[in-house]
Order: sequence, then C-alpha cells, then structure tokens
Amino acid sequence: MFLVNVNFDCCTGCGECVNICPVGVYQMGENGKTDPYQAGECVGCMSCVEVCPDKCIEVREM
Ligand code: SF4
Ligand code: SF4
Repeated sequence: MFLVNVNFDCCTGCGECVNICPVGVYQMGENGKTDPYQAGECVGCMSCVEVCPDKCIEVREM
C-alpha cells in the first residue's frame, strides 16, 4: 500500500498528474488543485512524482 501526499500550497493545478496516473488516483478539485481522491488505488509507479513540474507530490510505501 502506498501513501500519496500532495503539497497543496505548491500545486498549480496543471493537471499532469491527473492525466498520467494509470489507475485514476487523481481528479481536479473545485479549488483548481489536484485531488488524490482514490489514493488507496495507488500502485507506486511514481509517474506522478516524476511528471509534476513543481515536485509537489510524494509517494511512499507504507
Ligand atoms: S505513483 Fe503512479 S499509481 Fe500512484 S498516484 Fe502516482 S501515478 Fe498514480
Ligand atoms: S502535476 Fe503537480 S502541479 Fe500539476 S496538478 Fe499535479 S500536483 Fe499539481
């Protein structure tokens, strides 16, 4: 199981993490920032961590 942590102060809402996650962890929130609403589905591929232009996402194995 993986822990998905987003620094919302850092997120610009570019949507790259929403587009790249292979299991649909993210959606865009109404506040214009990403929302890891299905974090429990994360498979730890690290694509979101790598794609985020501002390095706002941390994924750790629990
Ligand atoms: S590590 Fe992979 S599976 Fe997990 S949230 Fe990021 S893109 Fe999705
Ligand atoms: S890729 Fe980074 S900046 Fe872009 S929406 Fe996701 S967390 Fe926010």
